[in-house]
Amino acid sequence: MEVLLEEIIEQCAPYKALGKPASYIPELAKGDVNDLGMYVILNNGQTFKAGDYKKPFTIQSVVKPILLLLALMDNGLDKVREKIGVEATGKPFDAINVTDQSLQNQHINPMVNMGAIAMCTLISGATYEERFQRLLELTRKLAGNNEIELDEAVYLSEKRTGNKNRALAYLLKSYGLIEDDDVESVLDCYFKACSIKVTCKDLARIAYVFSSHGKMPISDERIFPAEFAHFVNAVLVTCGMYDGSGDFAVRVGVPAKSGVGGGIMAVVPTRMGIGIFSPGLDEKGNSLAGIKALEQLSRKMYLSIF
Ligand code: GLN
Repeated sequence: MEVLLEEIIEQCAPYKALGKPASYIPELAKGDVNDLGMYVILNNGQTFKAGDYKKPFTIQSVVKPILLLLALMDNGLDKVREKIGVEATGKPFDAINVTDQSLQNQHINPMVNMGAIAMCTLISGATYEERFQRLLELTRKLAGNNEIELDEAVYLSEKRTGNKNRALAYLLKSYGLIEDDDVESVLDCYFKACSIKVTCKDLARIAYVFSSHGKMPISDERIFPAEFAHFVNAVLVTCGMYDGSGDFAVRVGVPAKSGVGGGIMAVVPTRMGIGIFSPGLDEKGNSLAGIKALEQLSRKMYLSIF
C-alpha cells in the first residue's frame, strides 16, 4: 500500500504546479505548490503515508463537516434541518448570488461559506470564543491529536481581508438567519474555524471517524450517533467539492471535503479515511494534484461508492 501511495505521489508530480495557492487570503499565497502528501487509515487501524504528509496547513473549508457535526451533536437532526439545507448550490463557495428563496426558506447549504457562518450560530456556548473552543476540542478529539492549534497569522489575514464573508454574514443577518446582534463575533468564530492548523494525518483520522459512522480507530469508542455520519457523508457527496462535486463524484466517487489551504479529507464508508494536501488549487478552489491523486487511488483500489 505504501508503495502504491509513493507511486501515486510520483505520477501526480507534474500536476502540482498546474494549480495556484489561494491568493485572496494573503497568508495562504505563501503555500508551496511543490508539496503533495497523503495519509490513509484503513478500517483495521493500519496506517500508510507518502510525500509531504507531515507538513501543517490550515483546515479551511474542511472544517465545515466538523462544524455541521457539532451543530448536529448540540441540536439534533430536526433543529439543524430547520436552518440548514442539503441541496447543492452549484455555485462557488463564496458566491453572493444566493436566491431570495433559499434565504427565505432558511435553506442554506452547510458546505459553502454562508451556511458555515450560519452554523457557527447553532453551536452551543456562552460566547463565540467558547463556541470556537468547543469546535477546536471536537477537532482534536476526532483527530486524536491534542496539539492541534489555531494558526494565528492565517486567522489575522482572513479577518483583515474577509470582506466577502462579511457581506455574506450581514446578508444572513438581514434575513434573520443570524439572530445575534454582534455579527463580527460570529465571523470571528468562522475565521478562527478556518484557521485551525492540521496535517494529512489529522484529516485522515477525522475522515476515518466519518467512515466508521462515528467510531474511533482501534478503540472503537463511539463519538457520535451513526445517523449523523450518514447525514454529513451524504452532504459531502453532493456538495463537498462545491461546484466541482459532480465532476469529483464521477472521477473519485467518495464523500470528500476540500479547503483552500490545499487539504482534502476523503471518507470511504466502512473502508478508510484519507487525508491529502497539495496547495495548488484548480479554478474551483480544490487541490488540483490532490484530486488527481485521489482519482488514481480510487481507480486502483475500487473506492467509488457508485
Ligand atoms: N476561509 C476560506 C474563506 O472563507 C474558506 C473557503 C474554502 O476553503 N473554500 O474564504
